[in-house]
Amino acid sequence: MYINGEWVQSESQFPVTDPATGATIGQVPDATEADIERAIASAYAAFADWRRTTAYERSQLLYRAWELMSARKRELAELMTREQGKPLKAALNEVQYGASFLLWFAEEAKRVYGQLIPSARADQRFMVQKAPVGVVAAITPWNYPISMITRKLGPALAAGCTAVLKPAESTPLCAKAMFEIFDEAGFPPGVVNLLTVRNPAKVGEAFCTDPRIRKLTFTGSTAVGKHLNTTAAAHMKRVSMELGGHAPALVFPDADPVHAAKGLSLVKFLNTGQACISPNRIFVHEAIAEPFIEAFRSRVQKLRVGNGMSEGVAIGPLINEAALQKVDRQVKDAVGKGARLEHGGERVSDGELAGGYFYAPTLLSGVTPDMEIYREETFGPVAPIVTFDSEDDVIAMANDTHYGLAAYIYSNNLSTAMRAFEGLDFGIIGINDINPTSAAAPFGGMKDSGQGREGAQEGIEEYLETKLGGMVV
Ligand code: NAD
Repeated sequence: MYINGEWVQSESQFPVTDPATGATIGQVPDATEADIERAIASAYAAFADWRRTTAYERSQLLYRAWELMSARKRELAELMTREQGKPLKAALNEVQYGASFLLWFAEEAKRVYGQLIPSARADQRFMVQKAPVGVVAAITPWNYPISMITRKLGPALAAGCTAVLKPAESTPLCAKAMFEIFDEAGFPPGVVNLLTVRNPAKVGEAFCTDPRIRKLTFTGSTAVGKHLNTTAAAHMKRVSMELGGHAPALVFPDADPVHAAKGLSLVKFLNTGQACISPNRIFVHEAIAEPFIEAFRSRVQKLRVGNGMSEGVAIGPLINEAALQKVDRQVKDAVGKGARLEHGGERVSDGELAGGYFYAPTLLSGVTPDMEIYREETFGPVAPIVTFDSEDDVIAMANDTHYGLAAYIYSNNLSTAMRAFEGLDFGIIGINDINPTSAAAPFGGMKDSGQGREGAQEGIEEYLETKLGGMVV
């Protein structure tokens, strides 16, 4: 762990495993109550000086961290593949995406402006200044183990906040590698702190209740997010919640079915489907369902399952046995209720894959609302296809979920695409675009997918307070 600018051990450790082989690849400290207290205390003490640094000084440190991350791209990506399982190429992309938040917020730090507001009284002036919220507690998930860290710490540090991070228990080594970078970049002691812990509940409790922490930023499941949000609310903390998703993809009859199948199969199987913006319900107009399914199936058949370190692998392992069982349960439930298994639908465990959590890329057609997969986030390599015949119906079907994170539209008709964009209750919508994400664009969800936005100008606002000065001159 990294507390007050020093690497520290704890009384005990816990193992980290490679999901492709089941082998132990490292040990990390298991934080005690005393460690949690020290991390919060050092972030709190460091805030007094850090808040007074200039935006230019903070920008320089973030820029240096970006340089170090870029120089270590390959090393970080290999570690990520071993610890989390995604294919090396996808890990390299994630490191680059993660680094882009440090660069973007190194610049954005310098653009935190105030306002001078005219008053109705001739002798009065109003001035608005932005100030850092204070100590930030950050909790990140395992599926994007590096970019979720920089997406939170980049803006928090740029804004002048100090932070304590608790990464997911499955991917603490990626977090440690990022803190080596923060250490080398030269952030002063206490400005960034890292706690690794096997049982996250005690850290979560401290983050939500400790009065020294002013803001909680969380990415993870809706269930845990709601629990933390409820606890934090009693202590009047600011929160940002990036939670689960159940993205619909709408393929209209004027779309090119082959092009849409290519795009949606790429985004569906990214990170073995373990992405909050993964399409989970693919609605295809019945007029083009046949060529769409055919094109999709032929792509799925070509996806190679295996260890992410091997060349040409597109589908790495799921994170653990429970994740694999959930996927298998959803597929069996759908098939049991009449869905057609077009491809896959089983665990893959031949030869060297026996020790890992591999599931075949799966395509289901004829999916209906009574199936579990239609309602719940899958977080696995399963593409469920639903057919529709009217625009109004499909928008209502797409919105019929308690989630509201990402959605996708395929249409070559500008009016259709615009109507769908305006009708969908989702925070991020790709229109003929499977990658509507960037450090420069606001990312976040509606409804049970959370609150707040990460990235873009909104991303730094989450870490700022608005201070009003009224003055008689
Ligand atoms: P999870 O909620 O189990 O874990 C996420 C993090 O919360 C981990 O660090 C975990 O240790 C911690 N955690 C769990 N219980 C806790 C508690 N009681 N107190 C404090 N911390 C606790 O989720 P997961 O399975 O690791 O992650 C996958 C989920 O994250 C999916 O639902 C996915 O959609 C979501 N996600 C959302 C986004 C987004 O930006 N909206 C991005 C990535 C993942």
